[in-house]
Amino acid sequence: MITFRVDSSSEEELLYSVSVDSDGRASCDCEGFGRGRFCRHIDAVLVSGEWAMVPENYRAAAAKAMELARGKITSPTNWKATWRKDWAWRGLSATREPINPRRSGKPLVCFTGTLPGKKRADWLAEAKNAGWDTTDEPSPFTDVLVAKDPNAASAKLKKARDNRTVIVSADEWADVMLDGVLPDV
Ligand SMILES: [Zn+2]
Repeated sequence: MITFRVDSSSEEELLYSVSVDSDGRASCDCEGFGRGRFCRHIDAVLVSGEWAMVPENYRAAAAKAMELARGKITSPTNWKATWRKDWAWRGLSATREPINPRRSGKPLVCFTGTLPGKKRADWLAEAKNAGWDTTDEPSPFTDVLVAKDPNAASAKLKKARDNRTVIVSADEWADVMLDGVLPDV
């Protein structure tokens, strides 16, 4: 059994405990440990591979738990991942430091798949205008990956989750682009 802690998204300084057993089953104490109960803490870290909400001293344990739970947890069919809109909890605030500061000092966004509404060149140009570097190939340096379906199981998304890149939908990107990962000035 591996246990790590996750910040509460609503209350400061409150931490929940998430445990993964040797079979890869997860439980969380946010509403009392309940068998088979699903919550945003399990979803964000163990299913979506995000880590901003895990305090630094628990990240090693969280990485092991992710490994143990990989492919073994799926969100319930009626589940609404409302936490995706919680920018601060996901570390997407204006003061977030880029995952891996590169020479340009700008955050890096990667676009994947066919995104609705605009041509790829327009998505790229718009991002550049808003102060981002852009790429088509996800890497450990990528801060944000924009995908048609952030929950899809494609190889690019899997790689991005392994790299702990924040994955957002095209709709979400509109906000993140303007109010998201920007370097401290
Ligand atoms: Zn929870």
